[in-house]
Amino acid sequence: MSILPYPPSILPRHLVRRLAAELLPSSCLLCGDDTGGPLLCASCDNDLPILPSERLCPRCALPTTHGEHCGACLKEPPHYNRALALWAYEFPADRIIHALKYQHRLAVADWLGSRLAERLTPAGQTLLPMPLHTERLRERGFNQAGEIARGMARTLGLPYQPDLLHRQRPTRPQAELLPGERQRNVRGAFACSGDLGGRHVVLVDDVMTTGASANECARVLRLHGAGDITLVVAARALKH
Ligand SMILES: [Zn+2]
Ligand SMILES: [Zn+2]
Repeated sequence: MSILPYPPSILPRHLVRRLAAELLPSSCLLCGDDTGGPLLCASCDNDLPILPSERLCPRCALPTTHGEHCGACLKEPPHYNRALALWAYEFPADRIIHALKYQHRLAVADWLGSRLAERLTPAGQTLLPMPLHTERLRERGFNQAGEIARGMARTLGLPYQPDLLHRQRPTRPQAELLPGERQRNVRGAFACSGDLGGRHVVLVDDVMTTGASANECARVLRLHGAGDITLVVAARALKH
């Protein structure tokens, strides 16, 4: 029995290939070698730019020599309590995020969710995705952070609440702005529709660029009663 909604003959060839790759992943997302199932082959997996947690600022996940707090966090700590990041946002980790966001390879989200789940000890946390504005959601058809958070919640057996936090106005991409403009760009962009009553919240995103959006979300979550906030991202952009 066909699992496709239409006979393959009336679907464009590239779409058939895309669907087959999504349903039966057997070649490495990065190099195309046969993996027999996993998303990446062992050698591409080893090439990912891992951020060693013992040499990161525990608050914002920027590399520091001995894992001490960075100068910025000492001067002005962010509203979240800690940040966890798997990789530096650079080649080839950027290709993985790109495949999810722009090629709609949703299997990547599940895989990222299970990778991130390995870094978190479940203790009754509630998982929330970094929200997308409805306009962007309509364009893309899904929120990549939501898909990752859903996969993570499923792996850890934790509640996933995608509707608690939302974006009430669109913002310009933070990467286009000067550092001084970033906080202003996101100020008042998010709203929370519930009382978190001291809960431990895990805010999930695909990429952390400057941290300004996550910090603004955390400020709003705190105003709505969040007791403890962990920021979890697949990739963290580093300052060079
Ligand atoms: Zn490979
Ligand atoms: Zn820091």
